Amino acid sequence: MTDADPHARQPLFAGPVDLHLHSNRSDGTEDPADVVARARQEGLGTIALTDHDTTAGWAEAAAAATARGLTFIPGMELSARDGWRSVHVLAYLFDPADVDLLAETVRIRDDRIGRAERIVRSIGRDYPLRWAHVLAETEGDATVGRPHIADALVAQGIVRDRGEAFDGILHPRQGYYEAHYAPDPITAIELVVGAGGVPVIAHPAGRERMSDATLRRLIDAGLGGLEIDHRENTAEGRAWLHRIADAHDLIVTGSSDYHGAGKPNVPGENTTEPAMLQRIIDRASGSAPIYPAAR
Ligand code: AMP
Ligand code: FE
Ligand code: FE
Ligand code: ZN
Repeated sequence: MTDADPHARQPLFAGPVDLHLHSNRSDGTEDPADVVARARQEGLGTIALTDHDTTAGWAEAAAAATARGLTFIPGMELSARDGWRSVHVLAYLFDPADVDLLAETVRIRDDRIGRAERIVRSIGRDYPLRWAHVLAETEGDATVGRPHIADALVAQGIVRDRGEAFDGILHPRQGYYEAHYAPDPITAIELVVGAGGVPVIAHPAGRERMSDATLRRLIDAGLGGLEIDHRENTAEGRAWLHRIADAHDLIVTGSSDYHGAGKPNVPGENTTEPAMLQRIIDRASGSAPIYPAAR
């Protein structure tokens, strides 16, 4: 399709587009409505809320987005694991009531609780940290993760910030780390596709970069796209990802991975081309974008 195509549609959503933000329904530090407000402040026109393993923030974020003139793309970052490597699968516009995907997210979230308790018990043998301290940092039934343990370590004055916690006590080499249940990435992709969603691998070329062979297997399983413009992807990694995206005609996204005060990432620091978001919308069948009332 060229620019001169008379059938070319104007997208219903406005840019700039940021497809990866977290609220306190997982490990972000702000309510979904405040994430939307911050996105608006940074000049974004369309955002996806992609909390880890939950859709609990969708309703609040959608209402706030509509009220502020932003388009809302329902999303999630599904935890998966390939051996020792954690793989994050962004999922867009899937059916939140799909029983198989729903059951898997419940299983992951439940297992995350026991896992976090065991990590805290282990840390508690060496530092004054208790489970109650972690609960105090966790919003309602938010997806619990190491970031909440990090916040408890900060609150107890044991470390300065999340970054110091992850570089030290929470790092696997310190011996307190334990993995939580997560499906393998192929299963994760099949679940998202089965729920009518579009799977995109988050930050695929960060520290835990997967192999070429693994990525090819994910493409065969129905992978829709790659998050290439993300601060954790290395320069060489991005070049590698662009070659693969071109060869397999994959969707390419760019996003901030905003976590409120939990990370330095700022909404809009990376954005997604409108044409790429349109491809996600056209490919999805599980749910629809929520557009603001006509302006
Ligand atoms: P978990 O899934 O419980 O193992 O925790 C992983 C989460 O911790 C990821 O979703 C990241 O958002 C967050 N995280 C990882 N490294 C850091 C860091 N250095 N600073 C802040 N958050 C981090
Ligand atoms: Fe996170
Ligand atoms: Fe991630
Ligand atoms: Zn994320």
